Amino acid sequence: MDDKVRLTSSNLKNLAKCPSYYSEFSSDAASEGQFLHKMCEDRDRDNEEMTQEQKLQVGKALDYVESFLPDGWQTEIKMKIPIINRNGIMDVFSKGAKHAVVMDYKFGITPEEDVPNNYQMRSYAYTLLYKYKELKSVDLHLVMPRQEMILQGVVKRSDMKQIEYDLKLIKRRCEQKEPEYNPGDVCKWCDRKPDCEACMSKAINCLKYIDNLPIPVETNPTKMVTVEDRNAAQHLAMLLPDWCTMIKKKNAELVLDGELELPDFKITKGGTAPKVIDILLFKEILEQEGISTKDFLTICSISMEKLRAMLANYAAQNEVNTDIFIDELLTHAEYEGALLAGHPYHYLRTIRGKKIKPQIKE
Ligand code: SF4
Repeated sequence: MDDKVRLTSSNLKNLAKCPSYYSEFSSDAASEGQFLHKMCEDRDRDNEEMTQEQKLQVGKALDYVESFLPDGWQTEIKMKIPIINRNGIMDVFSKGAKHAVVMDYKFGITPEEDVPNNYQMRSYAYTLLYKYKELKSVDLHLVMPRQEMILQGVVKRSDMKQIEYDLKLIKRRCEQKEPEYNPGDVCKWCDRKPDCEACMSKAINCLKYIDNLPIPVETNPTKMVTVEDRNAAQHLAMLLPDWCTMIKKKNAELVLDGELELPDFKITKGGTAPKVIDILLFKEILEQEGISTKDFLTICSISMEKLRAMLANYAAQNEVNTDIFIDELLTHAEYEGALLAGHPYHYLRTIRGKKIKPQIKE
């Protein structure tokens, strides 16, 4: 593993939880975040490449910065963070005689750790206090427009020892020859999850109380060597989603009824999403609120299954060959650039009569 890729200021919080954590932030959300950061850096509220929703979020972020720091702030300041020796980028930075201000934009919807526990923000404060000896404290602000939230905190010179200790500990644990694995909520964001033995063993151990459940000896998908293991793992992969749904449903019921309290979870109200049933009318209503058709279309999608069914119906009514009619129409749409062809793939289906029905141990 390349520690240069892993040991970054934004990865610190995840490395503190699992020293083997690895992520290159290549998701769509990460690219969108980079794009919106760039808009904030350029103070560009009206860039045409942004949707209206994005303009709104960038506007909220910049409004906050400008209201707090009327002038004299800089953006995207790169500084080497001592101890981990990696560059950190401060989205907003302002320095006075005795105090400095650092702000970081987060455009995601995942709740962030409070500023006093946020390793990334603390590492920035440490860097400034280390570099500018005249500074007494650093004000930290996490600006999260999509969550309508600002988190604030102050790091003083007297906090430096604790931050130094934390950073050294994370670095040491991360740079070990074989860093430890510590599966938990952090696995969700980790690129190693698909073949992480620790993560999979933890999940599979949870299932040991279920009788007749096929448990492979080797859990890493790339290392399984026996047919028995692969067959058992395939059964398990088909069963796990059902089991997960059952667990989540039953636990929620028990918590809601006051029969159970789970230390790491709280009950939240959800519901099935409302459904738009008249797209044209909905588009008109949005337009009345100033939301453009272009923005609206970015969130629209067509169900290919329903489209095929509708076209098959049409072909039958007009007595034309269904397959040829659909193929020609989709090829035409693809040629015109209205359709992106899907990629064929192969998958395994359970042979009739071979499906395993898990039984709970008495
Ligand atoms: S999947 Fe989880 S346990 Fe495995 S390396 Fe990633 S964070 Fe650690």
